[in-house]
Amino acid sequence: MQRDEQIFELIQAEKERQLHGLELIASENFVSNQVMEAAGSVLTNKYAEGYPGKRYYGGCEVVDEVEQIAIDRAKALFGAEYVNVQPHSGSQANTAVYHACLNPGDKILGFDLSHGGHLTHGSPVNFSGKLYNPVFYGVEEETGVLNYDKIQEIATKEQPKLIIAGASAYSRDIDFARFRVIADSVGAILMADISHPAGMIAKGILNDPMPHCHIVTTTTHKTLRGPRGGMIMMGKDFDNPFGITLKDGSLRKMSSLLDSAVFPGNQGGPLEHIIAAKAIAFGEALTDEFLHYQLQVKANAAALAKALVGKGYNIISGGTDNHCMLIDLRNKDISGKDAEQALVKADITVNKNMVPFDTRSPFVTSGIRIGAAAVTTRGLKEAEMEQIVELIDEVIMNYQDEAVLEAVADKVNALMADRPLFVA
Ligand code: PLP
Repeated sequence: MQRDEQIFELIQAEKERQLHGLELIASENFVSNQVMEAAGSVLTNKYAEGYPGKRYYGGCEVVDEVEQIAIDRAKALFGAEYVNVQPHSGSQANTAVYHACLNPGDKILGFDLSHGGHLTHGSPVNFSGKLYNPVFYGVEEETGVLNYDKIQEIATKEQPKLIIAGASAYSRDIDFARFRVIADSVGAILMADISHPAGMIAKGILNDPMPHCHIVTTTTHKTLRGPRGGMIMMGKDFDNPFGITLKDGSLRKMSSLLDSAVFPGNQGGPLEHIIAAKAIAFGEALTDEFLHYQLQVKANAAALAKALVGKGYNIISGGTDNHCMLIDLRNKDISGKDAEQALVKADITVNKNMVPFDTRSPFVTSGIRIGAAAVTTRGLKEAEMEQIVELIDEVIMNYQDEAVLEAVADKVNALMADRPLFVA
């Protein structure tokens, strides 16, 4: 077979882009060489519908072991009693939870997308907003933080069946214990979506949802630094509260409902090459090195926020407890879209993002979201965060000046020269 140069040249071009640029997208990271190797391994050839020991295909002895190791490592990492490592993505993990817990039309209470939530938390353009009946909580306009008394009021009024605690662009720690009080007061199931801060939570740097939330979902590719994928966990298995009974009259356990919701409810064959890569990433995350990495991510994010505030940038909530922050650009006379485009020309990648109470459309927006997980993997520390803020500011203040953007790109390339994608 002839090598497909067209695609391999593009892969090389993307590698060069990643190597020479500054990656500040809060949801991205760089996996280790061994995670990459597993993701590109022969396991991609294997069909394995079902679960370890209960497959619908022959020849699954090896992948059974791989998947069980991934499950066991995730349990150890997060202190979970139940783990399903098969969801192909964070969205599919959330889809499976809703499928297991809800009927179409049931009410869900989630974090408003325009305030920092995720599409799968009830957005009208997503299945979660079309199939279910979403209501939302958001942040306070003055402070940019969640007001738990208001969330309680909304829950009491709306009586949702499922409450989602978690976000894509919220820089403050989440009070899962308080969310549980709210959920219990209305008899709702509480799901935490820790896709963004999962790596920090795993190492005890942020509040732990596992003792408080019935179900926890996550992606594996953000701060957790694994391959692109999703996962569902429970601290403790429980009887499903909505009365689906088995033949013997007993209630079906949530673990069994969740497993069925992933397969056959929502997916066919699992991606065993990705599950192997997840297992390796979980093994890496169990080490002390990963704790040091997460502490550096937190320190770098705090340094970015401090330097940005020092230059007059408005960070929603005034700072960050985790890896990310949302910058409101309304005092800088530039839209999120223009900022993103100018920064990309300077080899700095961020994403435009709605800010709470934004008056611009989601295609334009008034803000950008940045995060420190990927640049920390590249080996950058607090001093470089200050340099990065200088570079961002130069771009934003001169966003229509191509010469300035080119000059900043040269400085970015010099900063990132000789740094491998993954620094062990
Ligand atoms: N949940 C949250 C909070 C997220 O931030 C994301 C991704 O950005 C997802 C779910 C969905 O993950 P995926 O893109 O893997 O479907």
